[in-house]
Amino acid sequence: MTGRRRGEFELIADLFAPLARSYPLAFGLTDDAAVLAPAPGEEIVVTADALIAGVHFPADERADWVAQKALRVNLSDIAAMGARPHSYVLTIALPETVGEPWLERFVAGLAADQAAFGIVLIGGDTVATSGPLALSITMFGLARSGQRLRRNGAKPGDRIVVSGTIGDAALGLKVVTGALPAAGRAFLAERYRLPTPRIALGQRLIGLATAALDVSDGLIADLGHICDTSGVGARVETARVPLSGPAAALVAERPEFLETALTGGDDYELLFTVPPTIALDPVASAAGVALTVIGGIVPGGGVVALDAGGGALDLERPGYTHR
Ligand code: ADP
Ligand code: MG
Repeated sequence: MTGRRRGEFELIADLFAPLARSYPLAFGLTDDAAVLAPAPGEEIVVTADALIAGVHFPADERADWVAQKALRVNLSDIAAMGARPHSYVLTIALPETVGEPWLERFVAGLAADQAAFGIVLIGGDTVATSGPLALSITMFGLARSGQRLRRNGAKPGDRIVVSGTIGDAALGLKVVTGALPAAGRAFLAERYRLPTPRIALGQRLIGLATAALDVSDGLIADLGHICDTSGVGARVETARVPLSGPAAALVAERPEFLETALTGGDDYELLFTVPPTIALDPVASAAGVALTVIGGIVPGGGVVALDAGGGALDLERPGYTHR
């Protein structure tokens, strides 16, 4: 490592090791690897997500937000499996232009979300790069053996349910990039920058949901993933898709933004299917998040998005609507 930074070992010892202190089996990041020791009857759930500056986040994004978003997109995958977040491994490739103030703020973001979500850093790799800043987080979760949410069990007759609100992040990205004026739209920008992984909900859905995933590619595309994996079709009543106040106001002004909301992605809400006999209100109140039925599973394949009059919506990105 060169430039305005300490060397790799000093960075690990001074910046990253404090984040591992609460987990004895990370050995203070002084050994070659950490140890995971699940209790009998538990399984480890693993997921990874990589983020590249200029591709997955603006190159000048605040370092603590970069850290938190990187953790949260992984936490959302753990939630979508119905698991409890446990720990993570961080690989970071640093260009010379990234100095210690950036790293300190990045570590502060990691620390904040470690506290918020009960996770701990247990290892990683730190390298220099001549390319853009890149980071990858591998997240571990714990689940009782065999107790998982999968994408493949949706059945005709199941209801399609989504948590929270859809489209805030896709519209928020327009705010963050300046395509939409920012005044009065801080909520949307915030939803893009700092998603809320639905961890409590995921665990509550064990034994109830027949299929589940987190919405990262876009509601319609991700519903397509459930349909493909489960061998079923879906009908979505787009007028029932839950929009936040600020998103609904934008859609009322510019109806084409409904498509942005339905296909835009980065929501990190949970999308799942449940048999009609399951009561959703107790789940919503126990998990502390709104749940909205947006349609139903049908035999066959593909996703049909219906407008308020019951006609099929012609979404511009047909890859996402297999009709
Ligand atoms: P090796 O050369 O044997 O791969 P390293 O010097 O890369 O070992 O890493 C030493 C220790 O520091 C390991 O336990 C590793 O997991 C940890 N580590 C390195 N980089 C990071 C990082 N960015 N975050 C957390 N732990 C790290
Ligand atoms: Mg190494």
